Amino acid sequence: MSEHLADWTKGEEAITYQTCGACGHVQYFHRAFCAACGASGPRERRASGKGRVYATSLVCRAATPETRAHVPYNILLVDCAEGFRMMAHGETGLAIGDAVNASFKPFAGKLVPFFTKKT
Ligand SMILES: [Zn+2]
Repeated sequence: MSEHLADWTKGEEAITYQTCGACGHVQYFHRAFCAACGASGPRERRASGKGRVYATSLVCRAATPETRAHVPYNILLVDCAEGFRMMAHGETGLAIGDAVNASFKPFAGKLVPFFTKKT
């Protein structure tokens, strides 16, 4: 039986991920099985929020009326310290390779992970 940790999608200030007990695969998107070897019941863990910028993309056109107030905003791909990659918001001016830390920020009525440069 795998426990379920609350994360930011549930309004909790946390990023969670899964590790496979059989092959060690690390995945961000939560599934009932390992995407690499198919073993069931990967373990959920809470991430440290530490990572490195893999890619950045400045969004200048709002996709929905709720996000219009936020443009321009930066969307990042972050390689997290635990070995998974996630998409998240981040401060503008971040460059590829920058070390970042996760915090959380309201965005269009939801709490979302927001990465800032590690100081
Ligand atoms: Zn596996």
